[in-house]
Amino acid sequence: MDFALTDEQSAIFDMAYAFGQDNIAPHARDWEAQGTIPKDLWPQVGELGFGGLYVSEESGGAGLGRLDATLVFEALSMACPSVAAFLSIHNMCARMIDSFASDAFKARVLPDVLTMNTVLSYCLTEPGSGSDAVALKTRADRTNEGYTLNGTKAFISGGGYSDAYVCMVRTGDAGAGGVSTVYVEDGTKGLSFGALEDKMGWRSQPTAQVQFDDCKISADNLIGEEGKGFKYAMMGLDGGRLNIAACSLGAAQTALNATLTYMGERKAFGQSIDQFQGLQWRLADMEIELQAARVFLRQAAWKLDQGAPDATKFCAMAKKFVTETGSKVVDQCLQLHGGYGYLADYGIEKLVRDLRVHQILEGTNEIMRVIVARDMLKNR
Ligand SMILES: Cc1cc2nc3c(=O)[nH]c(=O)nc-3n(C[C@H](O)[C@H](O)[C@H](O)COP(=O)(O)OP(=O)(O)OC[C@H]3O[C@@H](n4cnc5c(N)ncnc54)[C@H](O)[C@@H]3O)c2cc1C
Repeated sequence: MDFALTDEQSAIFDMAYAFGQDNIAPHARDWEAQGTIPKDLWPQVGELGFGGLYVSEESGGAGLGRLDATLVFEALSMACPSVAAFLSIHNMCARMIDSFASDAFKARVLPDVLTMNTVLSYCLTEPGSGSDAVALKTRADRTNEGYTLNGTKAFISGGGYSDAYVCMVRTGDAGAGGVSTVYVEDGTKGLSFGALEDKMGWRSQPTAQVQFDDCKISADNLIGEEGKGFKYAMMGLDGGRLNIAACSLGAAQTALNATLTYMGERKAFGQSIDQFQGLQWRLADMEIELQAARVFLRQAAWKLDQGAPDATKFCAMAKKFVTETGSKVVDQCLQLHGGYGYLADYGIEKLVRDLRVHQILEGTNEIMRVIVARDMLKNR
């Protein structure tokens, strides 16, 4: 067993970290205030190969493994978890297209997806179905030319901002077997968006409802086979969960690094606060928790790369553990900054807000426990 990153993996991390520090970190607060990420960032991200991290090399992607991808998200989220997490969603969609779409479809859309001239959103959740995603109601009715869509998707990251929407819709009866995946380009007649959601964190990412009102798409916009869409959507989520966990990890590491520096500078009772043993122990606890989270996350990613039968369980466990650890650490870092931690200038309060949602999306942490417990009971 070898726990070290390869030279290539270290280079991937370093490249992502440098890009984030140069091109994202200096702007993260402005983008949060503006409620959007400038579209011209994405082609630069695409140039690094990050628009199709685990799209196969035959399809023009970077062909990286899941473990490699977590390194990219850990490193980018050290600049801004909101921007990094948005990239994860695009990659989840890109992988679904590469894995399941026809060659003709891939030839049509993947080149721009990989360069990120086409930015993708993932549309599963609806106003009446989140955790119980299979209860989705948005319909895609077959016509001579293709499909007519009616319904609403809720909480869509990139709603009204992205160039195309990978949507899970009902083409058949109730249940998972009645769900298909379709691709809806921005500008399609009948596609509209709700107002921007006013959120606690992830504020640089626009979030909105995506609405279909007799929205007609060509039959060529079906991804893969009819009735398999729920399976495709779930397969995308294992990797998405790892990425979200990696975003918590990177952001928490940034907060801990900043806290170490701050504690050496801040004085109380005639000494720097890093001299109080009670606080040193808290630093040590955070270091232990983050290192444990990192090892656990990388093990889960490795299992997904290996196609291990328990990969889904490990992805769920890692998502829960790492996102909760990350939130706990950033909250402690805020505390160790005293009142300054509460001020935006110190950069910690944004991380507390950004990381909170990682316990809710890509499957809530309760659902992660449902997955783990089900597996335990099945295999006892
Ligand atoms: C900022 C943001 C961005 C998002 N981006 C996207 C996106 O891009 N695309 C997309 O499709 N979705 C997106 N989502 C939606 C997200 O995936 C859902 O919010 C999430 O799956 C939870 O669904 P819900 O909000 O309907 O909560 P509910 O499912 O209503 O859950 C409410 C509570 O009940 C608990 N619960 C539900 N079922 C069970 C159970 N069986 N056992 C135990 N507890 C249970 C939940 O854990 C939760 O605590 C986003 C959400 C947010 C907040």
